[in-house]
Amino acid sequence: MNSDDAISQLVDAGLLTDRQAEAYVLRAVEGVPREAAAESMGISPNTLDNTLARAREKVRKAQATAEAVEVIRSPDIPEKCSECGHGLGQTWSRDSDGYPICIDCAGIDPAEATENISESDT
Ligand SMILES: [Zn+2]
Repeated sequence: MNSDDAISQLVDAGLLTDRQAEAYVLRAVEGVPREAAAESMGISPNTLDNTLARAREKVRKAQATAEAVEVIRSPDIPEKCSECGHGLGQTWSRDSDGYPICIDCAGIDPAEATENISESDT
């Protein structure tokens, strides 16, 4: 992807201004030296620094927001079987009261466990 495409992708995403996207692509993505990047944008190095700092802050917040959404949307995965107290690992089920139990206590054949779990999760 060339710089112009990268910049317009960032701008189209709706968060960064043209200037911020340009500063971000030149410095943070392509590693263009500070002076050269400022010159190609027709601004002073100090202005570039400020623009880049705002761009980085926005990108950081966007990533933090995306991660928070990810956490909120993922189902809670319990750590221990409520029956025997052993760690549950990746494969577990729920008993009739909704408590998490390991596949041994649930009496599930490990070969069939994946299918049962994807059903109980939805
Ligand atoms: Zn158990």
